[in-house]
Amino acid sequence: MEEVGLLINGIYLKVPQGYTLLQAAQQLGVDIPTLCYHPELPSEGNCRLCVVEIGEYPRTRLVNSCTYPVEPGLNVQTHSEKVLQARRIVLELLLARAPKAKLIQDLAAEMGIHESRFKSEDPYELCVLCGLCVRTCREIVGVSAISMANRTPGKLVTTPFLEPSDACIGCGSCAFVCPTEVIPYIEKDGKRIIWGREFELVRCNVKLEQKLKSISTVKL
Ligand code: SF4
Repeated sequence: MEEVGLLINGIYLKVPQGYTLLQAAQQLGVDIPTLCYHPELPSEGNCRLCVVEIGEYPRTRLVNSCTYPVEPGLNVQTHSEKVLQARRIVLELLLARAPKAKLIQDLAAEMGIHESRFKSEDPYELCVLCGLCVRTCREIVGVSAISMANRTPGKLVTTPFLEPSDACIGCGSCAFVCPTEVIPYIEKDGKRIIWGREFELVRCNVKLEQKLKSISTVKL
């Protein structure tokens, strides 16, 4: 496989062609915060938290590291003052969008932000509109039982026409992948209730040894 050499925070490394800047930084062990990124899904760069600075001073610019591909000789800064300033603004916007989301509160606090300057539409909101649940349902489960509806400020994740969706198989992937744990579901008496529908929980027939074997062969 062809490789591309680039500089991240002054360190030269080579990564496979086609990698994104986020993947390259992860290979180097550099921690870049993300919300809407998932390694099993195509990146969309919705949350903008993974922003990094590229180019040579003074002609640098900010890009989403989860969608920007590596380029030969590219100079990347993951924690420059310009990057940190941009991330602080993103976190203030996310905090205004979802003031009750513990994950956002924690990420913001790590950067010294405890309050947002931006107005919040709903002080109890938890959803950051990252879209992970919708993309997981569509791309991994393959059923598209939920989607984004309305424009901001009324944008939300829901089923078609806010009705229980016939397409939903009750797998719960949307709830499990959600970074702010906002999708409600109940599991009781062998049943799971999610998106207004009730599903009987059935014991998986795959033996534990088989499961462990398949897990050990999955490339994480
Ligand atoms: S419900 Fe969760 S996963 Fe879906 S968009 Fe909102 S925060 Fe993201």
